[in-house]
Amino acid sequence: MKIGFIGLGNMGGPMAANLAKAGHEVAGFDTAAPMPEGVTKADSAAAAATGADVVITMLPNGKILRSVADQVIPAMAEGAVLCDCSTVDVDSARAVAEQANAAGKGALDAPVSGGIGGAQGGTLTFMVGGPDAAFATVQPLFDIMGQKAVHCGEAGAGQAAKICNNMILGVTMIATCEAFALADKLGLDRQKMFDVVSTSSGYSWSMNAYCPAPGIGPKSPADNDYKPGFAAELMLKDLNLSQDAANSAGADTPMGRQARDLYAQFVEHEDGRGKDFSAMLPRFNKLNG
Ligand code: NAD
Repeated sequence: MKIGFIGLGNMGGPMAANLAKAGHEVAGFDTAAPMPEGVTKADSAAAAATGADVVITMLPNGKILRSVADQVIPAMAEGAVLCDCSTVDVDSARAVAEQANAAGKGALDAPVSGGIGGAQGGTLTFMVGGPDAAFATVQPLFDIMGQKAVHCGEAGAGQAAKICNNMILGVTMIATCEAFALADKLGLDRQKMFDVVSTSSGYSWSMNAYCPAPGIGPKSPADNDYKPGFAAELMLKDLNLSQDAANSAGADTPMGRQARDLYAQFVEHEDGRGKDFSAMLPRFNKLNG
């Protein structure tokens, strides 16, 4: 397939490299990042999209996605598919899909889970919104870049799944960290705490797969001085997206709101910026004295 790939940063770079390695013809464009191995540099986003069967975007936010879509959609061939893999607000995802469909082009929102390791290893999970035909066109590319693609529904359904998942993740990470900090105050050994919770009803991905306490459980950013991993400011971005979506849909999400406020406090007023989101544990320890 001929692929245009726009946004070749930490995630997009290795994803595009994997597509090129699998034998696809990939034209890339990024305002700053270098071209990954096997990807041909295009002079603009529109040039990368011209003649492509599928155009993939992996960009920082919805505002940038909308401006790139304005350039790319008119340049795409009739019937080509625009597949956005960024994490953006549901409204932007739906607006871009409508714009593409009105111009006779297909569109999918297909945000990912799995982080930079998943992008490099081709083991991402894609959560996809959009019509069956567009999903079928891009499926072989999902199979190269990831291990699983779930077709969640119509336009915006992929982003909805992503922000709901990450709202759970933010809440459970905070709950896991505050429980560890309480256990510390109560004099409970951290390894014993892990051994009990990871096999009891308090278990979660945050505890079992990404334990925020250093030296305990599988290797995680806690074992690397809380270097990200998944940065606290990216978790804040996703929690803002889930709160915006909750507000516009009229859903009550009190725990999501608490989690958003706590990560905002951590990133904007404390020393959370640049740290992994599991660094909530030393934050609680510091506050608890
Ligand atoms: P990044 O900042 O490393 O990459 C974004 C790239 O987009 C940059 O290289 C930037 O130069 C480029 N860009 C910005 N504006 C552009 C424009 N107008 N035209 C072309 N290129 C432009 O970010 P990332 O970590 O690769 O994340 C990308 C997306 O994936 C985000 O939406 C993020 O929330 C999501 N995501 C990230 C992770 C992660 O662990 N990093 C995990 C899941 C999802």
